[in-house]
Amino acid sequence: MITDADAWRSRDLAVLWHPCTQMREHPDVLPLVPIERGDGAWLIGRDGRRYLDAVSSWWTNLFGHAEPRIAAAIAGQARTLEHVLLAGFSHQPAVELAEKLLAIAPRQCDRAPLTKVFYADNGSAGVEVALKMAFHWFRNRGEDHRTRFVALENGYHGETLGAMAVGDIPLYRRTYAPLLAEVLFAPSPDAYLAAPGQSPAQRALQAADELATIFDRHPGEVCAVILEPLVQCAGGMRMHHPEYLKRVRQLCDAHGVFLIADEIAVGFGRTGTFFACEQAGIAPDLLCLSKGLTGGFLPLAAVLTTQELYDGFLDDSRERAFLHSHSYTGNPLACAAALATLRIFDEDDVLARNKVTAARMAQLAAPLAQHPHVADVRQTGMIVAFELMRDGDKHTPFDPALRVGLRAYRAALERGVVLRPLGDVLYWMPPYCIDEEQLALLADVTRTAIDEATCA
Ligand code: PMP
Repeated sequence: MITDADAWRSRDLAVLWHPCTQMREHPDVLPLVPIERGDGAWLIGRDGRRYLDAVSSWWTNLFGHAEPRIAAAIAGQARTLEHVLLAGFSHQPAVELAEKLLAIAPRQCDRAPLTKVFYADNGSAGVEVALKMAFHWFRNRGEDHRTRFVALENGYHGETLGAMAVGDIPLYRRTYAPLLAEVLFAPSPDAYLAAPGQSPAQRALQAADELATIFDRHPGEVCAVILEPLVQCAGGMRMHHPEYLKRVRQLCDAHGVFLIADEIAVGFGRTGTFFACEQAGIAPDLLCLSKGLTGGFLPLAAVLTTQELYDGFLDDSRERAFLHSHSYTGNPLACAAALATLRIFDEDDVLARNKVTAARMAQLAAPLAQHPHVADVRQTGMIVAFELMRDGDKHTPFDPALRVGLRAYRAALERGVVLRPLGDVLYWMPPYCIDEEQLALLADVTRTAIDEATCA
């Protein structure tokens, strides 16, 4: 008998090309799950099955699916003004959101605050904006030789050509290398890479020293450093010590280079503080935000920057203006969703509640560190990751042909939990509304999924 879900699966596969997917694997290797609706941390399939969204739908969702206050804000805005071009025109949600973001942006006592917001409509586009702004600022000053970006090994910043150029995911770099701008890559401060006996802080300082040598070797060539503060998410939830960010901030200042903090994945409370930069007490020159910005409801990105950078574009010439425009820049519906999101942080005292949830996640994750094929369990705030390695040896990955990550994914999905691994790294990055029962299910299913995936 053909079920309703089966019918949707074949209609889908007849017309859709899915992201980040070898389509040949659908549906036999990789199940396709038609979803009808969301409810809190649950996704509900067309066949009525429930799936715990432990990855917050690619790290976008903050307070659960179909959160009524965000839904109401979007609906109200849609009845008033759905969209207007933002060149030459203005609207209340865009202005109010910019004011609020600037008020909560990371601050550093010895620096001027971030004072300007530029909108884009997805994370990659936000990264493009930040890269272009940094480059163009120097060009406007006649420093044409400052054309290079420094990015971190194992970093990820999106999939448009500029964003991909500053990313270091081997598969992407191999495939698209001829199209990508040449970037200087600095070693990652990743604590997992620490030598035996080296602390995460020592590893961070070592990586910062290595960055310093890159500056020394390329004097006057670099316009910006871009990094993901505290957690390299797509790179396998690799985490580093905040000391690294402090040192990078100092090095950028010493060499007159902009620091771009990509908080697209780690912003909005994921790391425990509202922004990850706060844990190092630093402020960047450019701050990229997206994903959780709208609570996971609509695509929107914001790039926050300084008065000094903004002023570098003021001139009589059009060429010196910042040359960037997306049709949906500052979309009112997305801004309304973001404003509702920020209100919920206050109304529900989200960061305080997350502290309790994160502590519970730590308790539930700890026993998995004893699993024979888990080499590392790490946590930063509301992100927990499990590194699966053969016999738990940090340096012995499973044979990729075994597809351990995919097997874990399928095992978890069959048990009603969405655990979409990054290679062989399983992680929890759940919506903040996840409750005790759901956390217990998550921990239980994670153990079973690891058992099943690693038993070969
Ligand atoms: N930067 C980081 C740190 C990200 O994690 C992502 C998305 N995973 C992006 C940029 C790109 O965002 P988007 O997918 O919205 O283009």
